[in-house]
Amino acid sequence: MIDELRRLYPFDERVLAAMADVPRHLFVEPALAPFAYSNKPLSIAAGQTISQPYTVAMQTHLLQVRKWDKTLEIGTGCGYQAAVLVTMGALVYTVERQKELYLQAQRTFLALGLEAIFSYGDGYAGKPLLAPFDRIIVTCGAPEIPPALTSQLAVGGRMVIPVGNDRQTMTVVERRADNTLRVTEHGSYRFVPMLEGKNTGAPL
Ligand code: SAH
Repeated sequence: MIDELRRLYPFDERVLAAMADVPRHLFVEPALAPFAYSNKPLSIAAGQTISQPYTVAMQTHLLQVRKWDKTLEIGTGCGYQAAVLVTMGALVYTVERQKELYLQAQRTFLALGLEAIFSYGDGYAGKPLLAPFDRIIVTCGAPEIPPALTSQLAVGGRMVIPVGNDRQTMTVVERRADNTLRVTEHGSYRFVPMLEGKNTGAPL
């Protein structure tokens, strides 16, 4: 998987090293484990998908995360992206609106001895009481950039967010030293949608 990614794009080697370290097959259902290292998105619980390795590598590359960066992720899913960020030394707060996934990702982290702060709720609001964040990564397709997330971005901070309805444009928002925002676009992707509210799913 890592060699394939390296052939596709000159990713930051720190990103590839972290992805080589995280056992992706333990984040998907056992039946899908044989496909865990092919460059494909895979189904996870609650009708959601884990992004294909290329997309994870690109979002992480664009995020330019540094050790100790206080990082907010919206869309925990199975927790794979969060695990890559933790492995790179980030302090990760991650929010998920599907209760089943919120619980499952924590079990996987526990089994692997990884640490992050998990939260069950609607990521549109971000985490105002914990802001500002050095890095924000959104792993679902947002119809527009949620103003609450931009306002929780630290000076010098970066947010990576796929923006759009049917297809999404990978977008980077930087809050520069003079507190102005710079927005750049980085190609077209397809994500599951960012939805409002939270979903309790079946009784647990
Ligand atoms: N980073 C994940 C990708 C999961 S797919 C991984 O590595 O597996 C995107 C996730 O975003 C889905 O689990 C979906 O339930 C979640 N999501 C969608 N809208 C959300 C919202 N408003 N707040 C929090 N999570 C959301």
